[in-house]
Amino acid sequence: MLIMYKLKGIYIGLCYCGNKIGKPALYLDVYGCNRKCNYCIQNYFHKNDIYDSTRYITYGINELLFIISEFNYKNIIIGGSGEPTIQDFSELINILNNANYNVIIETNGKKYSKDLELCDTIIFNIKTFSAGTPYTKRDDMDWYKSKFDKCIFTCTIKNMKDIDYLVDNFSDYDLWLFLEFDELDFNPYLEKILNYDNWRICLRMDRILNLDFKSVHNKRGDLNGRETTSISSI
Ligand code: SF4
Repeated sequence: MLIMYKLKGIYIGLCYCGNKIGKPALYLDVYGCNRKCNYCIQNYFHKNDIYDSTRYITYGINELLFIISEFNYKNIIIGGSGEPTIQDFSELINILNNANYNVIIETNGKKYSKDLELCDTIIFNIKTFSAGTPYTKRDDMDWYKSKFDKCIFTCTIKNMKDIDYLVDNFSDYDLWLFLEFDELDFNPYLEKILNYDNWRICLRMDRILNLDFKSVHNKRGDLNGRETTSISSI
C-alpha cells in the first residue's frame, strides 16, 4: 500500500533540546493530533474536530525524500505542531536511518507507535494543568523511561499549577522546561524551579534571536510569516 503523509509543511529550524541542541534541523510539521492543548498553535483545526484538507499537504515518500535530500541537514525532526504517532512514518524513518540521518520524533505520549522504536531520539512532551488535556501520568513516563534510552522529557510551563504538578510527580526526572509564563514576574516561578538540580530551563534561541527560518514548503503559505516556495521551484 502506498503510504501518504499528511504534513502542514516542512521548515528549517534548530534542535531545541538534547545533545543536538542548537544544531539545524529539517522539521516535518505533522498535521493532526489526538490532544487539544489550550496553547496549541494549530488550534485552527480543532474547531470542528474535522480534518480539513485545505490545511495539509499530502506527500508521497519519494517526494519527501527528494525534499530532504535537497538540504544538507542530518537532523530530521518529525512532529512540529502535530502528533506523529497517529500516522505511520516507519517506512520513511527506516530509509532515513539507512542513509545515516539522525531522526528525532516528538510525541505527546498519548498513543504508542512502533515508529518511536526506530528513532534516534524521542522528545516526550508532558501535559500538565495549562494544556487543558488529561495530565501525563507518572506510570506513562516511567514506562517510556524504562523502554527508551534516548527519551527526553519536556514540558511547557505557564503557571504555578504546572510547576506544582511537576514537583508532585516528576521532581526526580531530568526535565527540559519551556517557560511561557502567563505573568511577567518570573521570580516566584524561578525560585521554585531552581530547587531541582535535574531540571533545565530551555531557551528557544530561534525565538530569542527572532531567526527567520525558511519554510521549505507549506500549503497555507503563512507559516509564522516565513518565506515559502513551492516544491516545483526547489
Ligand atoms: S499535543 Fe502538541 S500538537 Fe497536540 S494539541 Fe497539544 S500542543 Fe498541539
